[in-house]
Amino acid sequence: MTNKTRDSFRQTVFDRDKHRCVICGDRAKDAHHIIERRLFPDGGYHPDNGASLCGPCHLLAEQTVITVEDLRQAAGIKNKYLPPHLYQDQRYDKWGNIIVSEDRRLPGELFHDESVQKVLSSSLHLFDKLIKYPRTYHLPWSPGVNSDDRIIQDLSGVKGKEVIVTLKMDGENTLCIEMIYMQEVLALNLTPVEIGSETFGTK
Ligand SMILES: [Zn+2]
Repeated sequence: MTNKTRDSFRQTVFDRDKHRCVICGDRAKDAHHIIERRLFPDGGYHPDNGASLCGPCHLLAEQTVITVEDLRQAAGIKNKYLPPHLYQDQRYDKWGNIIVSEDRRLPGELFHDESVQKVLSSSLHLFDKLIKYPRTYHLPWSPGVNSDDRIIQDLSGVKGKEVIVTLKMDGENTLCIEMIYMQEVLALNLTPVEIGSETFGTK
């Protein structure tokens, strides 16, 4: 992310909030990312994902004591600006963990990150053990992709890594699971099912 993007995000958010903390009215110190920037492919430097905060309120927002909904409301943001792989009808905390209720959350993809564990240390008891992974993207060559499906744009993160591919066969939870190496798929130009890989059919 360029300095220019960061600076203009900060400036736009501060200007909108008149350089005051949207929660307590003190002088703003940080242009806070309402939803963590690491969850966005482009860093989430959008004014609807920013709120001006003073130091103490910034800490409370990072700890999720001040919620993303509180921040949007205080900053007058109507749009729920989320990373493309998360769901509009689900409630999230700043770190992409799903909020089921006031006393129950599901760990998101950043939950085990050291910095996230540290900042959430006083609320770790709220979390279920299993991680809820977000939407799975379609591969660019997936057959039968609909216009509302999400397609992964950049496969460099999985290149050369072992991946598990699940293929939904019908509407009855029949899954075909393939263990393949992404390297092979890319090298062979994209017919994963025909690669000599182990296939497990379950019903
Ligand atoms: Zn404040």
